[in-house]
Amino acid sequence: VPNTLEIVNLRKVFGSKAGGVVAVNDVSFSIARGEVLGLVGESGSGKSTIARLIAHLYSPTGGQIHLSGQPVPHKLGGAALRKFRRHVQMIFQDPYASLNPLHPVRYTLSRPLKIHGLAEKNIDAQIGSLLERVGLAPASTYINKRSFELSGGQRQRVGIARALAASPDLILADEPTSALDVSIRLDVMNLMLDLKDQEGLSMLFITHDLAGARYMSDRIAVLYAGTLVEIGPAIEVIDRPQHPYTQLLKSAAPKPDAGLVPEEIAARGEVPDLKTLPPGCPFEPRCPHAMSECKDGLPKMYGLGNGHTARCILHDPAIVAKRSAVGAGS
Ligand code: SF4
Ligand code: MG
Repeated sequence: VPNTLEIVNLRKVFGSKAGGVVAVNDVSFSIARGEVLGLVGESGSGKSTIARLIAHLYSPTGGQIHLSGQPVPHKLGGAALRKFRRHVQMIFQDPYASLNPLHPVRYTLSRPLKIHGLAEKNIDAQIGSLLERVGLAPASTYINKRSFELSGGQRQRVGIARALAASPDLILADEPTSALDVSIRLDVMNLMLDLKDQEGLSMLFITHDLAGARYMSDRIAVLYAGTLVEIGPAIEVIDRPQHPYTQLLKSAAPKPDAGLVPEEIAARGEVPDLKTLPPGCPFEPRCPHAMSECKDGLPKMYGLGNGHTARCILHDPAIVAKRSAVGAGS
């Protein structure tokens, strides 16, 4: 079975060539069928841009996207784009902003069903099934409500139902719980995991909350300044992070699991300016382990076993040998 999603050297530059900002710097990863990949990093790290590139809300500057083994053209429109949307759907952060408050639930959910060709006479039954699948039962209680009459959690459930209406293979969930009350986040995460299992979906779960990422994800990818710096099994990446940036994120996360607030890290005054990144490791200006070799070029991804890789020369055998020689001689 081919991977549901494969992105290879995906790149997005905003602005002109000379003054351009590299928002996504040759990022590669895959998501297997039925897998949840967590994508974590501070605000501005490129997480949402990657989702928007995959969803065709932006077109890439470079690289390839493959969906179930098929290459996806950089530009899609009309019927091709509608067909694409049957396979890839997004769930957005703010259910207040992503649903029109005046639209009744029936209208919100009937549109994608019509676009995807469901006959008019079957639409109400299908809406009823969608509402029950997302825990809004009985459907008759909700189908005529307007979005503004629903709670935040109910709205996000409608947002999830709208994504499911297309029967997608892949859901891109961009901070789907961060606008919700802490008390209902776990319910929404559990709903997404149940639906993933029942519908055989694959999911990209974007968050700045490491605890949420660990709970939801099979594997986790960590982005820093548009660059993938670490990827591996979720438990390993969070419990034994191997990149100094992931280690910093983990140490900055409030405990127990109140959710990492990106602004708290920003308050350290060190969030990178994408226009003035150093030529070597992008994390070098903030890294407690930085050494002169870190400026030599972008480090490669070093394999650490079990599919865990980190983009840091601390894992380069030559650097390890040199450091231990220095340590032994002192
Ligand atoms: Fe730090 Fe160097 Fe590793 Fe970059 S390559 S994370 S600067 S030790
Ligand atoms: Mg974002």
